[in-house]
Amino acid sequence: MSKIDLNKVEFETMVIHAGQGADPAYGALATPIYQTSTFCFETVEEGAAKFANEVPGYHPVYSRSGNPTTRAFELKCAAMEGGEDCVATASGMGAVGSVMLAFLKTGDHVIFDNAVYGGTNYVASTNLPEIGIEVSRVDTGDLEAVKAAIKPNTKMIYFETPNNPMLKVTDIAAIKKLAGPDIKVVVDGTFAPPPVQFALKQGADIVLHSITKYINGHGDALGGIVVGKADDIARVRKNSVTKINGCPPSPFNSYLVLRGMKTLALRMRQHCASALEVAKYLKSNPYVKTVYYPGLESHPQHALASRQMENGMYGGMLSFELNDNVKGLSSFDAGKKLLNSLKIPAIAVSLGDPDTLIEHPASMTHAGVAPEDRLAAGITDGLVRLSVGLESPKDLIADFEQAFQAL
Ligand SMILES: *Cc1c(COP(=O)(O)O)cnc(C)c1O
Repeated sequence: MSKIDLNKVEFETMVIHAGQGADPAYGALATPIYQTSTFCFETVEEGAAKFANEVPGYHPVYSRSGNPTTRAFELKCAAMEGGEDCVATASGMGAVGSVMLAFLKTGDHVIFDNAVYGGTNYVASTNLPEIGIEVSRVDTGDLEAVKAAIKPNTKMIYFETPNNPMLKVTDIAAIKKLAGPDIKVVVDGTFAPPPVQFALKQGADIVLHSITKYINGHGDALGGIVVGKADDIARVRKNSVTKINGCPPSPFNSYLVLRGMKTLALRMRQHCASALEVAKYLKSNPYVKTVYYPGLESHPQHALASRQMENGMYGGMLSFELNDNVKGLSSFDAGKKLLNSLKIPAIAVSLGDPDTLIEHPASMTHAGVAPEDRLAAGITDGLVRLSVGLESPKDLIADFEQAFQAL
């Protein structure tokens, strides 16, 4: 392990060193990929003691329940969030499903924000009701609505902040105050990982992420994490993820995330600075009706975002809405044409990659949603979602200029 007192150094230093130190076998600085399913014991007695957790220290016995590469990744993520422990999963949805299985049972009630990630939406609308868990959907940005939705059997309040694709911000501290000690507040922080936002510090009981996005940050691995208090994480690990339902990440993916996280602080700073620059450019563009970015003063929750998100950073995600009539095109057609005319952004879902990614919800991710439901969620025909990458913002803005000219 590291010799540095990780509590006494800045985030940038901590996140590079946390969870990792020279490997005990040969002193490797980069954590090796322990690509093994099982671990050997010298004697039956040693095996028995390790299975019974009677040997101090970290002793994996089988990679579904624990692997040294994955453990380093988990410890780094616990430190990153300032949580007591972390459990890693094979995908972000593995983290979502694991939290549900760990803390909810038939007869319980859970409150979800009305706009959550598509996979999570399926969990809320289908999986949980099918096993007798009651689900309410409210706008968690509306504290009165959350308060009114709480029932005696409410066990969890779940939301993303900022959310997808409208970049709505939910007040974590205010929700925890309403929830009290017995209702778990679970935050999906995928859109704004540390050092942009520290959900546990704001009052969340559990924070989860799709590390597929910013935390790995290179668009080459799927994964998820759940971070919180040690007893909560032990419950997730034991009841749902590893021992029983088995969705640990592969050691290779854990290695990739450890590698990606070395530059997390640096990358987030640039994603945020570039997103602000691109948001300001789009806001001044005559073809754009509205820009949704918490860092703009025009964002309805800019003051809350400034309190809750740190270091003057507001994330790298933004959405914008095209005008209803762009050079005679409908906003739907203008959206499609704009994406097709851009040269730098890849037309793709996902986010948080070094490459800028762009998508048109009305013709892509939300094409299957009934138009009236889409509109109710604010997803108009001319809405475009942008994950601002690490290219020069100058080049990105120039590319938007030429694409708007081509409309
Ligand atoms: C991508 C995403 C997920 C799901 O993560 P996977 O790694 O794709 O399983 C969950 N929540 C949010 C906000 C996401 O963007």
